[in-house]
Amino acid sequence: MSQPPTLSLPIDIDAVKGFLSHAEGEALFRCATELDHAAAAVEIGSYCGKSTVYLGLGCQATKSTLFAVDHHRGSEEHQPGEMFHDPELLDDAGAFSTLASFRRTLSAAGLDDTVIPVLCSSAQFARVWQSPVGLVFIDGGHSLDAALLDYRSWAGLIKAGGRLAIHDVYPGSEAGGQAPITVYRLARASGLFREIVSVDSLRILERL
Ligand code: SAH
Ligand code: MG
Repeated sequence: MSQPPTLSLPIDIDAVKGFLSHAEGEALFRCATELDHAAAAVEIGSYCGKSTVYLGLGCQATKSTLFAVDHHRGSEEHQPGEMFHDPELLDDAGAFSTLASFRRTLSAAGLDDTVIPVLCSSAQFARVWQSPVGLVFIDGGHSLDAALLDYRSWAGLIKAGGRLAIHDVYPGSEAGGQAPITVYRLARASGLFREIVSVDSLRILERL
């Protein structure tokens, strides 16, 4: 038996803006290394590429491909005046955009050949996606409508033995918004998934 791939970060990941702990990143990396190389992975919500690096390195190790879906215009909470707005992330026209930062992260991490950036909304991409997916990571918009649409658009495309990863699962509203945990509960209640990983606010479920 060959050894499972180990995580070796080619960049200073703390310098990449984003919302993910290192422990969560390691769990995403490991999850991606368990993918069958023919099964693509889909990330919904890349921001500046923090989670993309961990998932992408896992895909690189197994020669699979990561589709990183983000319109790069930010979620509600990233817009000017909102709590998570970062004034450093504006494009030439003065609009919020994480695209340039995301592309810099990908290139610096040597992931241009592994990650396919998809510049549109998750539901738009799901409408043209045809094949079963090995791993879906949901970390896009956190309104209930957005999170439910991501789940409904993608959960049915995950193949048996594939993984559904959900970020920002908080049991109480004092810790964070309740949309991701609502999706997590729906997935559990469907009877189609079982939980295999729980680290910080990340949950990873296996499609039965
Ligand atoms: N995974 C990132 C954080 C993602 S933040 C990290 O590791 O740091 C959420 C991202 O989801 C934002 O970049 C936003 O532009 C994107 N987003 C919000 N709604 C979306 C949608 N409907 N489709 C695709 N991306 C979306
Ligand atoms: Mg998140």
